[in-house]
Amino acid sequence: MAKGKLNEYSSKRSFKATPEPAAQIPEGRSGPLLFVIQQHSATRMHYDFRLECDGVLKSWAVPKGPSLDPADKRLAVPTEDHPFDYASFEGVIPPGQYGAGEVIVWDCGVYSPDENAAWVEDREAAEEQVLQGLKKGKLSITLRGEKVKGSFALVRTSRGKDWLLIKHKDRF
Ligand code: MN
Repeated sequence: MAKGKLNEYSSKRSFKATPEPAAQIPEGRSGPLLFVIQQHSATRMHYDFRLECDGVLKSWAVPKGPSLDPADKRLAVPTEDHPFDYASFEGVIPPGQYGAGEVIVWDCGVYSPDENAAWVEDREAAEEQVLQGLKKGKLSITLRGEKVKGSFALVRTSRGKDWLLIKHKDRF
């Protein structure tokens, strides 16, 4: 898979100055897709929500973080694709660097698109489902994290760029 996917990620960073992982696409990933939510104490504290798909982490900045209340729609602003290795990154991005501040892993686990019953066996089908959802601007996924569990919708707003992260009503 092409490294070009991470060009924006690389262009925003100086890897001599930041401890963040370099732009690399992992090989031989198998099994369920991973998600991570990082708490990022940048100029403004926010949460970064990332879904493994197509060799990278599709990413959104969620100012208030996810809510388990279906009535509570959370703004999710898309950001550049991040390398898969970013999922385990914790550290301090030094002053003057893009995103300066501390990053910790707030939650992580596996996820699957809700439409795809065969996701455990068929990783590629699950990724295809996610890519289609991202294109359509409507994605329904189930997260299996420590803190965040259950089904969520990610919906692009009619205004265009922003998305909303909304919990579906379920037993969680
Ligand atoms: Mn961030």
